[in-house]
Amino acid sequence: MIDQEKVREAVKLLLEGIGEDVGREGLLETPDRIARMYEEIFSGMDRDPGEHLSKVFSVDNSEMVLEKDIVFYSVCEHHLLPFYGRAHVAYIPDGRVVGLSKLARTVEIYARRLQVQERMTGQIADAVMEYLRPRGVMVAVEAEHMCMTMRGIKKPGSRTLSVAARGVFQENGRLQERFFHMLGER
Ligand code: ZN
Repeated sequence: MIDQEKVREAVKLLLEGIGEDVGREGLLETPDRIARMYEEIFSGMDRDPGEHLSKVFSVDNSEMVLEKDIVFYSVCEHHLLPFYGRAHVAYIPDGRVVGLSKLARTVEIYARRLQVQERMTGQIADAVMEYLRPRGVMVAVEAEHMCMTMRGIKKPGSRTLSVAARGVFQENGRLQERFFHMLGER
């Protein structure tokens, strides 16, 4: 749970720290606004993907299932700036599938925390492995990081791609190729 009082105090300090006048009109509500916003954008911190991924149903086939273009917004833990983009989650069922919206919910739970893109990619893959127990999972995340585009190397529009492969995807280049091929089909 977010300690709203602490966040409000911290934002006041931060504003003072950058030389702002915390008493001026435009900033009066800012600490409270940010505290309430953090409730929402960090709401994944105390949530467990099992609440979505444990609702499985049985199937006979074991064809790859791909949910692509899951839009997410997260916050980089190194700079407290947003990174956002799309996640693509594929798995090969072993008798069980979940509703496609559950994969999007899983992405959301991990995105709504302080994150590092590579870790988030792996966490999504691990959660699907753990709860759905498929033959394999492959996750690709493409994101734009404000900490790269607002400062530092300043390359607007540049995106970072991260992938995580688990189970049968790990050793099977042809399966990985098929995943990327399916991703490319729009
Ligand atoms: Zn960053």
